[in-house]
Amino acid sequence: MNREQYSQQIIDTCLRMNAQGLNQGTSGNVSVRYQDGMLITPSGIAYEKLTPAMIVYVDRLGQFEEGKVPSSEWHFHLACYSARPELNAVIHTHAVSATAVSVLNRSIPAIHYMVAVTGIDHVPCIPYATFGSQLLADSVENGIKESKAILMQHHGMIAMEKNLEKALWLANEVEVLAKLYLQVAAVQREIPTLSAEEMVTVIEKFKTYGLKSD
Ligand code: 13P
Ligand code: ZN
Repeated sequence: MNREQYSQQIIDTCLRMNAQGLNQGTSGNVSVRYQDGMLITPSGIAYEKLTPAMIVYVDRLGQFEEGKVPSSEWHFHLACYSARPELNAVIHTHAVSATAVSVLNRSIPAIHYMVAVTGIDHVPCIPYATFGSQLLADSVENGIKESKAILMQHHGMIAMEKNLEKALWLANEVEVLAKLYLQVAAVQREIPTLSAEEMVTVIEKFKTYGLKSD
């Protein structure tokens, strides 16, 4: 695909994530790996107003085109691409249930086998750092190395996958898991989980599960 097609795909993904209730307003941001760096949403612009020409190219050193302002989170998006060379799309959202779990500063444990969508047996929550900071990017880099989806304390979630379609699918699964976690936590303090052994089995099965397109 060429730059314009990737840019349009980014815009479509933004519109879908808001329409699906996975994000609201100008919160969140979306990128795809492109050439030596990435294409990323601009900062603070309503998704309905975006055109492909407004999507920003940021190279691997963080240089970007004059006259454009990339998402304030470009540091952590770049950090994701260097942490996971096999994955090519990053979605960050302020989905309400995922963010609620992040406020509690809890990881989502193996309450359901679908937790294995992360590639491990939980959805980790990384420590709070100011939005747009290098400190946050460093922490995201460590978190995303471990898991394809992470919660960010008092902030939201990040989902990283092979392409945008899969990343949006992953973000939705994480939000459903967060909802489920909050519902279980509301009725019982001790939260039952699947065994580590069963999760190893499920994680293995997940390596060949899901959307087939790359
Ligand atoms: P941007 O509009 O700069 O991408 O910021 C939104 C956001 O979610 C920051 O964490
Ligand atoms: Zn954010």
